[in-house]
Amino acid sequence: MRRLGVHPDPFPVWKLKRTERPSTRIIDDKVQRKSEGDGGFPRAESGEFGPFIQQEYPRFVMKHPLSGVLMDMGRKLAKMVDGTVAPKRAPGTHDPVANARHIKETAYFLRADLVGICELPPYAVFTHDRYTNEPIDCDHKYAIGILIDQDWRTAAAFNGHDWISNSMSFMSYTISGFIACNLAEYIRRLGYPARANHAMNYNVAVPPILLWAGLGEMCRIGDMVLSPFLGPRFKASVVTTDMPLAIDKPIDFGLQDFCSKCLKCARLCPSQAISHGDREMHNSYERWPVDVERCTSMRVGNQHGSGCGTCIKVCPWNKPNTTFHRIIGWTMMRIPFARRFAVWGDDFMGYGKPKPEWKWWMDLEEVDGELHIPESHDK
Ligand code: SF4
Ligand code: SF4
Repeated sequence: MRRLGVHPDPFPVWKLKRTERPSTRIIDDKVQRKSEGDGGFPRAESGEFGPFIQQEYPRFVMKHPLSGVLMDMGRKLAKMVDGTVAPKRAPGTHDPVANARHIKETAYFLRADLVGICELPPYAVFTHDRYTNEPIDCDHKYAIGILIDQDWRTAAAFNGHDWISNSMSFMSYTISGFIACNLAEYIRRLGYPARANHAMNYNVAVPPILLWAGLGEMCRIGDMVLSPFLGPRFKASVVTTDMPLAIDKPIDFGLQDFCSKCLKCARLCPSQAISHGDREMHNSYERWPVDVERCTSMRVGNQHGSGCGTCIKVCPWNKPNTTFHRIIGWTMMRIPFARRFAVWGDDFMGYGKPKPEWKWWMDLEEVDGELHIPESHDK
């Protein structure tokens, strides 16, 4: 699939329909910057969702040893997001087109799955740091979005909310964070300011950057972007920089129509947090509303697993990169009337159901410093 020497990208992004603006409305001059502390997890930590969720918050990732390891590694990467910029710019780094190509190739060399570049929308910069509450000031011109697949095989095997769910999230958070930290440091060594943003140290809101960088469209799963190649099965990091870079354009692969017909995630969400209705304007963004308290409480308070990614698992766009699924995917993008049949066919083929025969992980739960086999162990 990869056309070396022609395109740097492993997926055929050059075949996507490009547009001047994202497929959902954004009133640029009215969007208010937010504090990262306004998100569901900080609100859970503060006790806004009740004492039980507040009590579970410190352990909901750490209670499984694999997600705990990955979160600890992410915390180490949180200290590596910025640094000194080389005093002199490297030769051969003044052409934005050549730079963009080189930066994408570097990110793919570091094992990124998809990369896109946009101008950094000022409203994507958070107002305050979640942990220190210090004001955030970032006037970098560009943002590089980096996606990491959460792994198709594991996504097919799990039930959506069992003991591997947080490990899938934190594997992608940590690897995308590793790539962002290295890429930012590399750009600084080339003589340009750059800062890595990853799950343990975001200074920017990710969804608007992914939209403008042509990495996906807003989907029914609330404040989430869906990729035409990975579905919602990814986590993202971002590098902001002043290195001159050619930008990508937003994409439109028919997802707004698809999500309006599908509703599979809304049907199967265990906490019924996903809307069955239409898109709404929220802080001058158009998106499907999601009940943040229900979703966060399910992920933090889950007593039968660690986290939740049921919506990611059951989405018809969560498919492996095979010829068969690529043909179905291109049909969905181009033939609107086929989309209802696709959702029906997805259910009929049993996609979204767990595959216990593919299970590879151990169900374990740490309680009082010791690992136990949890009562909800899926034999
Ligand atoms: S993560 Fe789980 S609870 Fe949250 S919206 Fe998705 S399916 Fe629902
Ligand atoms: S499951 Fe269906 S409605 Fe939900 S995000 Fe995926 S395509 Fe959209």
